[in-house]
Amino acid sequence: MAEVFLSLGSNVGERRDNILAALAFIDRKGVRLKAVSSLYESAPVGVTGHPDFLNICVAAETVLEPEALLNALQDVEAELGRERTAEKTPRIIDIDILLYGHIIFESERLVIPHREMHKRRFVLEPLKEIAGDAAHPALKKSVNELAREAVSGEIRKIGAV
Ligand code: ADP
Ligand code: MG
Repeated sequence: MAEVFLSLGSNVGERRDNILAALAFIDRKGVRLKAVSSLYESAPVGVTGHPDFLNICVAAETVLEPEALLNALQDVEAELGRERTAEKTPRIIDIDILLYGHIIFESERLVIPHREMHKRRFVLEPLKEIAGDAAHPALKKSVNELAREAVSGEIRKIGAV
């Protein structure tokens, strides 16, 4: 059983409903949710003119190996109606694997820890609520430290999901 941290974001349609539906679907894939952060709102990073995201992070336990977990999460994205088009386009739901235990993993379709997590305030602010002391296994820094250093993007806390 591995402890994993996931990031969820939505910037199309009923964003909060999309996130809640994704949490229910994830649970049905045998990924047991342990903790859920508050909901945050953030401006998209790297593009202009796109709608703002709602973001949360969750802690979960799973027996799925890293790529099997990615498959399960991509199934949830598809079940919620996400179409895979160009990168950075608005999406009903985006589910990213941030940390998977203490492992460092790299394949063609999966990099853990997530390549951008240490730069993104919309990841680190919610993540530090549920995993402030968790270590980034490659950077050897805690989530709290990374959150203090991260600069990208405006973010505001909305409240409980
Ligand atoms: P974004 O980078 O905005 O999350 P996508 O959700 O479309 O964009 O992801 C693009 C690709 O990133 C996915 O097809 C997936 O194979 C790959 N990927 C690599 N590492 C991860 C990770 N840690 N979590 C989720 N997807 C990942
Ligand atoms: Mg993604």
